[in-house]
Amino acid sequence: MLPPDVAAALQSKKLTISVMPSSTWGTKAPLADYNPVTHEIRLNRDGISNLVGNKNNNVAERIFHEMGHWIHMNGPQWYKDEIEKLYDAKTAGESKIWSSIYNCWIKRDRWYDEYAGDINKLEVVTRHFQLLTNPMKMELEMMNSPNGSTIAENMKTVLKVFYEHK
Ligand SMILES: [Zn+2]
Repeated sequence: MLPPDVAAALQSKKLTISVMPSSTWGTKAPLADYNPVTHEIRLNRDGISNLVGNKNNNVAERIFHEMGHWIHMNGPQWYKDEIEKLYDAKTAGESKIWSSIYNCWIKRDRWYDEYAGDINKLEVVTRHFQLLTNPMKMELEMMNSPNGSTIAENMKTVLKVFYEHK
């Protein structure tokens, strides 16, 4: 059960999930997206189909990622503040650089994955949430990524939305 303030914040933001064929996506189609106005998660059917069997990608991971956006953007203010504080602390002194992998500006730090450093500060929750669907991947990232040790550390803040309220 979610803390009452989190549940209250999300109650009026009912989430829907739909699977859309490739024809509805543009040329630079992501595997999934979240619409913060309609609260719809769209899964890119063809994009995801191409990855079936790839242990690094699964539908649940995409859904958890987008649900991370939903909870982060619509959750209580204290949670947004905590995530911002975490991002700022971890990237202090870093200047923004272009990520050619993700086509966005990022601030480097010891993230396990550089997309978590997106300067919009909206990918810290999502990149960590998605690991929850894939214990094997989380284990490999924790053990093998040069920054794997930050996963557990960052989870302490990211998971607060499930048990803390203010
Ligand atoms: Zn995202």
